[in-house]
Amino acid sequence: MKFQLLPSTFDDTGCSSQRQHLTSFVIDDSVAIDAGSLAFAASDLQRRQVRDIILTHAHLDHVAGLPLFVDDLFSELREPICIHASEHVIEVLERDIFNWSVYPRFSELSNSFGRVLEYRPLVANVESRIRHLTVRPIEVNHKVPSTGFVISHEGSTVVLTGDTAEMDTFWNEVNSIDNLSTLLVECAFPDELEELALSSFHMTPRRLSRELEKFRASECPVYAINIKPRFRERTIEQLSEIGYERLEILKVGRVYDF
Ligand SMILES: [Zn+2]
Repeated sequence: MKFQLLPSTFDDTGCSSQRQHLTSFVIDDSVAIDAGSLAFAASDLQRRQVRDIILTHAHLDHVAGLPLFVDDLFSELREPICIHASEHVIEVLERDIFNWSVYPRFSELSNSFGRVLEYRPLVANVESRIRHLTVRPIEVNHKVPSTGFVISHEGSTVVLTGDTAEMDTFWNEVNSIDNLSTLLVECAFPDELEELALSSFHMTPRRLSRELEKFRASECPVYAINIKPRFRERTIEQLSEIGYERLEILKVGRVYDF
C-alpha cells in the first residue's frame, strides 16, 4: 500500500512544511482516511480518484477539508463521494457541518450525473471492503467517539490509531494480527503538557512509551503521527529519548510503501 500523510502548512518559501495542523492520509492515491487538508493538498490524480473517505472522528482538524473537497468536485462527480464512518460521526457531520448554515447538505443534492455525497456507516470490529482495501474499525479512547483502523491489502496490514489516549482492548486486537506491516500511533503533546493531553485524550512521549509496552509485534515498524505543530520539535526530541528503537516520525508528504 502506498501511504501518504498530506501536508497542511507552508514554509517561508511557499513549499509544504512538516507542521501538521490537519490530518488526511491517502492510500494508493484513491482512498482517503480523514479529510483535514484533503481539499487543499490532494494531487490532481488524487482529486480525480479519491471517491471514498474514511473518517476516524469528526473533530475539525480531521474533517475541515471535507466540505470543500465535495464542493470543488461537485459538477464533475460521476459517482458520489462516499463517506465511511460510524453512525455517530455521520450524525455530527449532518447536524453540525452539512446543515445549510455552515455548508450545504450535499447528501440532498445531485449534479447532472446523480447524487454527490452518500454515507456508509461503519460498525466497530466489522470488516468492510472499501475499494481495494479491507478496513476494520476498532474503537479508541478519545474525547469523542473515535475509531482507529486495521487496513489490509495483498498481504500488507497497517494499523492506524487516529487520535487517542491510553487503550487496552485496542492493543489486544492489534496483538492478535499476524504479520502486521506498520503501526501508526498518535503522540500529540510533549511531556510538560501532560495535563492538556489528559483532558483532551491525547498521548505524550512518556505515556506513549508505557503504551508501547502493550504492543507485542516485535518486528513491526512504528511511526508517530498527529504531533501538534507548536510543539513539534520538543515532542520529537522527547520521542527520541524514550529509547524505542523501531519508532520513527511519519514524514508529511512522503509516499511510504507499507
Ligand atoms: Zn480529535
